[in-house]
Amino acid sequence: MTIPSINAERLLTDLTYLGQIGAGADGSIYRVAGSTADLAGRDWIDKTMRVAGLHTYRDETGNVFSRRQDSEGPWLLIGSHADTVPGGGYLDGAYGVIAAMEVLRTLHEADHPAAAHLETVAFWDEEGVTPQSNGGLVGSTALSNHPHIQDVHGYLELHVEQGPRMERAGLDLSAVTGIVGVRRFLVQVRGQENHAGTTPFALRADAGRVATRFSAALRDICQGVDEASIGNIGSIALEPDAPNVVPGAAKVQVEVRAGSEKSLDGIEEMLRETLQTIAAEEQCTAQMQTTSAKPVADFDTRLVDAVEEVCLHRSSKAERMLSYAGHDASVMSTRVPTAMIFVPSTGGYSHSNLEHTPDEQLVLGTQALLESVVAVSNIMLTQDVDSEHSLAA
Ligand SMILES: [Zn+2]
Repeated sequence: MTIPSINAERLLTDLTYLGQIGAGADGSIYRVAGSTADLAGRDWIDKTMRVAGLHTYRDETGNVFSRRQDSEGPWLLIGSHADTVPGGGYLDGAYGVIAAMEVLRTLHEADHPAAAHLETVAFWDEEGVTPQSNGGLVGSTALSNHPHIQDVHGYLELHVEQGPRMERAGLDLSAVTGIVGVRRFLVQVRGQENHAGTTPFALRADAGRVATRFSAALRDICQGVDEASIGNIGSIALEPDAPNVVPGAAKVQVEVRAGSEKSLDGIEEMLRETLQTIAAEEQCTAQMQTTSAKPVADFDTRLVDAVEEVCLHRSSKAERMLSYAGHDASVMSTRVPTAMIFVPSTGGYSHSNLEHTPDEQLVLGTQALLESVVAVSNIMLTQDVDSEHSLAA
């Protein structure tokens, strides 16, 4: 059966329409989860799919789903989140939601067999900016613990990259292989506060110097262990924080991200060793405690292979890549075979009104999602979904 083409004009019109709900004067979007604008956006998604003749429903959490009236499980789920950060862009989340709506409508209208087992989702509260959101990924986490997850046999998410890598490399599409793990540490250094004029360098126990030497070493440590890893020192606090006092104590907050637990382990070990070496050289003591650890999300190799094949078929400028930002797909990948597709972000901007992707790439990405749905549905249909060899096993 021929593979239908998405309706590019409808896709772009819908993106513009949703982008106006909660938009401020400068084009920044305020659709924080649970806000009036967020609820209006969800109502519009629901209504748009009902008008297209599809069945829609919402779960207790606020996730909005749609599928064909005569549809039967197991379903391949496609979508993203409908909420934004305060002052966000028109593509983060919204692109994946509207592309999913476009793919289902196109397959439904063409009466393509893949439409029968396809469901779309607009997840609730991915961003996690309100006190009650507990760090975000609320809708996908709720679904991962909901009985409905038993009837979901795969998840595909299309998203903007939100960084500069693809544009720099001249890519149109990426098959995302997984999402980096993130570890955060609190480093606490103890020295001896003293007079900053009368105490010679050699006789100091300068906690501030340990903090800054350690911070300066982070980049080389990350790059030495794994070139694709990244790290950040986001906070340094010195005590007593005065120009004429040698700091007696220091606190440093460190975050590292990498695509494998092995790399994260290697970086953590090097950070601990380096901290002890520097502290000893500076006559100080130091400890490093882990404050949070998000595991690496490894996507399903069969799905990533299928998505990559589609991307390469659609564009000569397609490659695999790792996601450095978190997504609902990381939660979904703990329960069902999952993969993602990225399109570039112009200038690498996201969580901003500068967020943009050329229309041709938005259309290309959506067509790639449709073809990935067809490819993945074929994989699912050729397997006995109830057997231990099923995708859900
Ligand atoms: Zn997002």
